[in-house]
Amino acid sequence: MRLLIMGPPGAGKGTQATKIAEFFGIAHISTGDLFRANLSEGTALGLEAKKYMDAGEYVPDSVTNDMVRDRLTHADAQAGFLLDGYPRTVAQVAELDEMLGDETLDKVLVLTADTDEVVGRLLNRAHKQGRADDTEEVIRRRLEVYEEQTAPLIDLYSSRGILVSVDGLGSIDEVAGRIHAVLNA
Ligand code: AMP
Repeated sequence: MRLLIMGPPGAGKGTQATKIAEFFGIAHISTGDLFRANLSEGTALGLEAKKYMDAGEYVPDSVTNDMVRDRLTHADAQAGFLLDGYPRTVAQVAELDEMLGDETLDKVLVLTADTDEVVGRLLNRAHKQGRADDTEEVIRRRLEVYEEQTAPLIDLYSSRGILVSVDGLGSIDEVAGRIHAVLNA
């Protein structure tokens, strides 16, 4: 099973991704988590990524693509994976297509959420987790970047016939229930 979860920042992707990956017994590959892990270990990749993350911008493809290419070779990803936060641009889709070859994605799940709702959620999370990329200004920028660069992927995957969409508003269990319904699980 090869899945991708996407949706605007604050739609609850990370929480749902963890649950889905556990349910199917597949690797959860979150590029945001990989960048944050690199940062907390103080690697050169982490420090490079931080400049962009703190501004709400995307980390350059030259860094991101290689990190994902490497992660997909790990043993735990061989039985399947859930990509969370990658690809985020049309160029990254082309790169992923090339990495996967014939083993294409089975489904792309989009979590939808309205802008005011996600800004509120992200500000709340910022207070709890102290994430430097969760100030209101950076949040608004992240949403803009999502609209400009990532939202076009919805049409792209829809035209491939693998897109499923779920309303991200509601409790964690409510949203998880909707996801199971569309994934037939
Ligand atoms: P996330 O935890 O998925 O919201 O990611 C946090 C930040 O990591 C993003 O705002 C970007 O700066 C960076 N990031 C994560 N995934 C990607 C990606 N596929 N391409 C570029 N930057 C990314």
